[in-house]
Amino acid sequence: MKKGKIYSVFSNKCPKCNKGSFWKSNNPYYNLFFNGGENHKNCSNCDLKFEIEPGFFYGAMYVSYGLGIGLGSLILIISLAIFEMKNILVLSLIIGLSILILAPVNYFLSRLIWLNAFIDNKS
Ligand SMILES: [Zn+2]
Repeated sequence: MKKGKIYSVFSNKCPKCNKGSFWKSNNPYYNLFFNGGENHKNCSNCDLKFEIEPGFFYGAMYVSYGLGIGLGSLILIISLAIFEMKNILVLSLIIGLSILILAPVNYFLSRLIWLNAFIDNKS
């Protein structure tokens, strides 16, 4: 059954077969603080090598940047439109803290998104 890229990103699965795990843990915080932010080298199901070339995951920084900007923009819009906050200092603090607190989730998703951009789903 073909599940696709969205499934792969949000379920921590191999982009090719959608069965083997990419990260060692499904919890982004546990992954970063207790597994040292390391992912599996190969897929346990189809043996796909995740790091396509040396330094491949440096590219995930672009995705990470996009996710961070997206999160910041979303919080800014919600704060301005719904809560009508106008204090730029408070807004900056809220956005900065949110990005910091969600950094492990950002890291977790950005590598999966970056890998999915280069590997086709062939299941
Ligand atoms: Zn696989």
